[in-house]
Amino acid sequence: MNIETQSCMIKGREDVEVITQHLNYQGEGTLVRITRGGICGSDLHYYQEGKVGSYAVKMPMILGHEVIGHVVASDDPALKPDQKVAINPSKPCGDCKYCHNHEENQCVQMRFFGSAMYFPHVDGGFTQYKIVDSAQCVPFPHEADDTVMVFAEPLAVCIHAANQAGDLDGKTVFISGVGPIGCLIAAAVKAKGAREIVCTDISERSLSLARQMGATTTVHAASGDFTPYLAEKGYFDVAFEASGHPASLLRCLDVTRARGTLVQVGMGGAVPAFPIMTLIAKEIKLVGSFRFTTEFNTAVDWLSNGILDPLPLFSGEYAWTDVAAALVFAGDKQQAAKVQLTF
Ligand SMILES: [Zn+2]
Ligand SMILES: [Zn+2]
Repeated sequence: MNIETQSCMIKGREDVEVITQHLNYQGEGTLVRITRGGICGSDLHYYQEGKVGSYAVKMPMILGHEVIGHVVASDDPALKPDQKVAINPSKPCGDCKYCHNHEENQCVQMRFFGSAMYFPHVDGGFTQYKIVDSAQCVPFPHEADDTVMVFAEPLAVCIHAANQAGDLDGKTVFISGVGPIGCLIAAAVKAKGAREIVCTDISERSLSLARQMGATTTVHAASGDFTPYLAEKGYFDVAFEASGHPASLLRCLDVTRARGTLVQVGMGGAVPAFPIMTLIAKEIKLVGSFRFTTEFNTAVDWLSNGILDPLPLFSGEYAWTDVAAALVFAGDKQQAAKVQLTF
C-alpha cells in the first residue's frame, strides 16, 4: 500500500516546513492515520533553539511524540481498522540489560519519536500517516475524548515521576515549577492519594492552572512566604523539581523534610554550588525521573476512565499545515499551556 503523507519537518532553528512524503506499508507493523498531537517542550526547544540540551537538529526530522490516531491496517489481529489508539513514542530494543529487566526507559538503543539524540534522528508523529510497531499502539474506547487522550504521553511522564517517589498515600507534596508537567504531576499525586499538594511558580497563570489540576495551596516563587515550610528541617515528605532551574532545586532541598524524597523531573544544566551538605545531613533521597515504561498504559487507562481531567491545560488547536503558528503560540507561556495539532 503506497500512501502519501504530509509531515511537519523541523530543519533547524525557527525553520519548520510541511512536506509531502510517501510511505510504503507492506503489512508489517501498524499503519495509523494520526488525528491529533500535542506540542511538547522538546518540540518547542527544537523550534526555538534548533536543539534540546546538547542534541542539535543535524538533519530534517519530523517533530512530535504526543500523538493519537486510528488504525488503518495492522499485523496485530487485536488492532482492527478504525480502532482508536494512543501511540507510545518509545521503541526500546527489547534486548539490552535494561529491556530484560523491565527498565525500558533506560534502553541503550531506545528509538524515541521526534528525538535528535541519535543520528540519524528518529522521526516523530506530526504526520498524517505513520507506520509503527504494533506494540506501540495502545487502544482506547471510541467514545473517549481525543483532546483528552493526547495527554497520555505527558501524563505517563508524570505518573512515572510520581512512582519514583514511592507510596504517596497521605503524603505532603511540594511541586516547584508548574508548567504542563508540574500541573500533571499535581493531578497524578492527587490521584495517588497525596494529602497536601503545594505548588510554586513565578507565573500567576501557571499557579491558577495548578489549582485547577489539584494543588491545595500555591505560593508565588518570588513573592511568596516559604518560612512555614522551613521549620524542623523542612515540611514536605516529597518534592518534585519540575522547572529545571537551579534555584528551584535549592528551594526543594530546603522545604523537603529530613529523610524525604526529592524527584528531579525538570531538565536543566549544571547547578552551581550544589549544597551537598544539606543532602547529606538531611539524608534526602534525590532521584531522577526520565520518560516512562508501563506508565504509558496507565495514563491511557486513567484518561479514558476520567481518573483525572487534563483539559484545564488545553490552550488551543491548529491544523498541521499551521505548525509554525502553533509552535509560536505554544511558546508564549503567557497564553499557552498545551497546544494541539489536528491532522
Ligand atoms: Zn512530551
Ligand atoms: Zn534495550
